[in-house]
Amino acid sequence: MSPIAERQLYIYNSSSGLKEIFNPINNNKVGMYVCGPTVYNYVHLGNCRTFISFDIIYRYLTHIGYKVRYVRNITDAGHLENDASEGEDRIAKKARIEEIEPMEVVQKYTVDFHRTLAKFNTMPPSIEPTATGHIVEQIELVKQILDAGFAYEVEGSVYFDVLKFNESSKYGKLSGRKLEDMIHNTRETSGQSEKRNPQDFALWKKAQPEHIMRWPSHWGDGFPGWHLECTAMSTKYLGKKFDIHGGGIDLKFPHHECEIAQNEAIFNCCPANYWVHTNMLTLNGKKMAKSTGNNILPEEIFSGENEIMERPFSPIVTRFFMLQAHYRSVLDFSNDAMLASEKGFSKLMHGLSVLESLDTSKETIGFDVAKWKQKCYDAMNDDFNTPILIANLFDAVKFVQNINDGRSSVTKEDLDEIRLTLHNFVHDVLGLKQEEQKVDHYLENSINLLIELRNDARIRKDFATSDKIRDELAKSGILLQDSAQETTYKLKK
Ligand SMILES: [Zn+2]
Repeated sequence: MSPIAERQLYIYNSSSGLKEIFNPINNNKVGMYVCGPTVYNYVHLGNCRTFISFDIIYRYLTHIGYKVRYVRNITDAGHLENDASEGEDRIAKKARIEEIEPMEVVQKYTVDFHRTLAKFNTMPPSIEPTATGHIVEQIELVKQILDAGFAYEVEGSVYFDVLKFNESSKYGKLSGRKLEDMIHNTRETSGQSEKRNPQDFALWKKAQPEHIMRWPSHWGDGFPGWHLECTAMSTKYLGKKFDIHGGGIDLKFPHHECEIAQNEAIFNCCPANYWVHTNMLTLNGKKMAKSTGNNILPEEIFSGENEIMERPFSPIVTRFFMLQAHYRSVLDFSNDAMLASEKGFSKLMHGLSVLESLDTSKETIGFDVAKWKQKCYDAMNDDFNTPILIANLFDAVKFVQNINDGRSSVTKEDLDEIRLTLHNFVHDVLGLKQEEQKVDHYLENSINLLIELRNDARIRKDFATSDKIRDELAKSGILLQDSAQETTYKLKK
């Protein structure tokens, strides 16, 4: 592995709108914070795309030699239904509907989140802190923001004073919005809100008597505002300023804008140097939304129990599908796209298995290994461009196939280099792996039916038919095995 300095990594910074050379604050150490899920429901496929994208970033930074501290939080309190810091707490609402404790909601959906991400072969972050585990730190931050003069208390709640903040800084700089325009576009709430200005956001909310999730504070019983937890946890584990802050594009405003305001109000600096936002996942060309039915859960893709896909697809194929688009592009999920991905994935895996049994010769013909390897790194160094990387990996697979067909040749040295590079990128960086060949129940029922028909034919002494069934199945990779008692089958590797 070459030293980090020899590789120039560019990251698209949402804050500047430019691809910038990546220079971490502490030489070979990288601090990365990614906003995690609010655990009040089964994890959304679009969220999975976000976490898979950051998994790639985490893996690649590690691969090129950085020591990464990856912090991804779990929001288990304080995330209200709307962005104006109003409405019901999402977890408390779910607890009310399901008639269980809020912490049962948290437990149920945190387990689902971890299970699903593990199926997608994402690596766990270095630290996964929870909002409820950092109430003390959040109360401390509220005090500091009040002391700095950027917040005010009303009836047991504390709000961030956006207008005051905007006098000395610029609220909206990350998302390119102007506070004047925001104010202009806000409809009057005719004094319904206790906030001084509709853009102000809650740092601490007073808990109404029926609110279960509550903690004592200087301002009475209450709970923290959603934006505050990320400032509390990112500063605790990564410092006032760290390298990369990430999340889905929908978090850019207001969530990340509020995080910047909080950090600047207390520490006088923006929390992160590079802001990375992943784009949306659509389904059949339309926005995914539960309300319109244009929605699919990861588990429904894996089981095939859905109205959208013609059959089940594995988590790794789904992961491969997501990596075939750049993380900043909108990606459309559809049956046809998944079928194409499945084909591509098995071609890639087949290439890797052929690689293991290739003969070498004195000369490499028709492939420049060093140049190819550099192109793979160039793709990832260009803002983690996985689709270009995958296209390069397929160039190597094509070469491997040509050697296997006797149309080309490779030296042992070159073959070893191709093998190592492919392994590094396919397994370590892209996080793909060969899947156990599983037979779904549709196929299993069909094979069993053919075995029965073959047995009938054998009883009738119609060996032409029984042999035909056996031979045709073998051609498809399904091998029948006869014993004295029964006929079983196995899949050809
Ligand atoms: Zn956050």
